[in-house]
Amino acid sequence: MDDDGRFAYSNELPVEQQMPRELVGKSILEKHGKSDANEAVLQLLRERKALAHQEDYLHSYPHCWRSKMPVIFRAMDQWFIEIDHVPSPAGLAPAMAAPKVVGQESESRPPDPPPAFPLSSGAESAGVIKFRDLALAAIEGVHWIPEWVKNRIGAAVKSRPDWCISRQRSWGVPIPAFYDAQTHPILDARIVRNAADLIEKHGSNAWFEKSCRELWTELKPEDWAGPEPAAKSNDTLDVWIDSGSSSRAVLMRRPELQRAASVSLAESTGQPAGRMPAAQWQADMYLEGSDQHRGWFQSSLLISLAGNGAAPYRTVLTHGFMVKPGKEDPSKKAKISKSEEDKKGQQGVAYEKPQTAESYIKLYGADVVRLWVASQDFRNDIIVSEERINKVAETYRVIRNALRYQLSNLYDFDPARHSVPDEKLTGLDRWILGAFARLEAEVIQAYDAFEFHVVYQKLSQFAAVELSATYHDVVKDRLYTDPANSHRRRSTQTALHRIVTALCQMLAPVLSFTADEAWEFIAGQTVESAHITTWSAGAFPWPAGEETAWQNLFTVRDLVLPELEKARQGKLIGKSLEAKVALRLPSALAGVGERQGDLRELLNVSQLTITSGEAVSVTIAHADGRKCERCWHWETDVGSHPGHPTLCGRCVAAVQENLNTK
Ligand SMILES: [Zn+2]
Repeated sequence: MDDDGRFAYSNELPVEQQMPRELVGKSILEKHGKSDANEAVLQLLRERKALAHQEDYLHSYPHCWRSKMPVIFRAMDQWFIEIDHVPSPAGLAPAMAAPKVVGQESESRPPDPPPAFPLSSGAESAGVIKFRDLALAAIEGVHWIPEWVKNRIGAAVKSRPDWCISRQRSWGVPIPAFYDAQTHPILDARIVRNAADLIEKHGSNAWFEKSCRELWTELKPEDWAGPEPAAKSNDTLDVWIDSGSSSRAVLMRRPELQRAASVSLAESTGQPAGRMPAAQWQADMYLEGSDQHRGWFQSSLLISLAGNGAAPYRTVLTHGFMVKPGKEDPSKKAKISKSEEDKKGQQGVAYEKPQTAESYIKLYGADVVRLWVASQDFRNDIIVSEERINKVAETYRVIRNALRYQLSNLYDFDPARHSVPDEKLTGLDRWILGAFARLEAEVIQAYDAFEFHVVYQKLSQFAAVELSATYHDVVKDRLYTDPANSHRRRSTQTALHRIVTALCQMLAPVLSFTADEAWEFIAGQTVESAHITTWSAGAFPWPAGEETAWQNLFTVRDLVLPELEKARQGKLIGKSLEAKVALRLPSALAGVGERQGDLRELLNVSQLTITSGEAVSVTIAHADGRKCERCWHWETDVGSHPGHPTLCGRCVAAVQENLNTK
């Protein structure tokens, strides 16, 4: 059969096996449900009295998985890349001139690792190392995430047959070969380079549009002494060659993607002369789905190894697929794929709304969708369900509210004038900054390891527990009732300012819009966007003993809060500020006695006494005195100031100070 689906002669078969003359040229492709070739075969059988019976018969038949059209099988000559040959020690491809890197600044990148695959190593045995072994060695030099996929791609390379790179498609990148009169291929590096130049100028269709003669006139090498072509190749390249060539077509061609030459040259000893050093152009990361170990990850590796002498990437990250939830049976979860959606569109099946990112972005906003993606462990398949996204949307609101709270309490804070130095911060502020520094360290570690779901867990936990349920709640009293310019209030604002700044930077990779929106409102911020700042997470210096003291305070808090809840249910008190707490604590809870003020704040009660004793005891009573109208604390001095009969002494002082400083 020829390229147009018609029966044809073949030079490669003996005469008795040739196509009968009356069938040559008949098309097997159907027009209006009939094919000329079928009709001609039936006719021939009838003429030869060899047709016993004729009947239309419905049977199953292979179809293209993508277009769903029936497939015709043909025996064809194909092109292969041999995987088990021994490449020449000088490398596998002719040396390539390194594109010039113009005006590139040295970035603050970490030092580059050595090239994944130094060609010079094992030079004594280079003569017997097969290409497959080179590929396996290169795999060892790459950082695979998750780690187990190294075995997967290793096994795929180990067991792969020679690479069939030719396709008989009506579109694609042509294989720039010619055939002589005896149908022997003419393939020469000079012809290929000339073809590349032609295609660069006119696009790949030039090959198909021009005749063999026209092409040969343009591509024939100057001193050509070989056979003249009788035909051009109509084969196209396997598309994995197209995408697998991005190391050449993208990485090596774009100076902005490369490291400064000066950095890398020192580290690329052993690179064949004339080649751009691998450390200069290698991609930091290739990222794709878990089906690419036989696809893009592998074709990229083999092509780059053959053409560039090194793996194209330093790190490869593999992620699972988005799957529909299978509530009753986890094995029923189905991959959400393009071909699935194509089928629905084509066959007129009732159109079902595809699960695109767009549809969720319209519902939840881009940041919630991004946060949901980050929250999922990408190493496994990811179940897409509204229920799960809704849960993440709740977390998003907690984080957003935390940012709002912090920003709204910094309205009168000028970091240049009001910041309190570390050692003068109140204990509570030092505690939250210490906890936040720990969070920063954990989040950086998780980002570095590409464990975005860990970033999400740590951040959401911190926003909900340490910030919303504890710190933000406790410091309300200071922020709302202390004199505006008091040390205690400025100390807390200092902590809030530091936290909101670093929180925006920490969130920026995931909550890109929210972080940037919040960033605009941070007092004293001179950099325009959170995305162009450097997040310099620092440890918060906690003197020995202070951390233990705060752990003890929280231990006591955990003992008292349930008792306060009981007192509330027993109608002894309403809000916790109506309570007077008497504590007896053993000496093991050292340091708590000296931090009575801190503990009273943490408990959010009006009155607290601490005595020491062997066993812990917690006694709750109704607070003494009257409720201050301003701070809602119960104090015995409410009403003692004739000018402010409804305020406590602390509030009277605060009101007067605020008036004086206005
Ligand atoms: Zn008060």
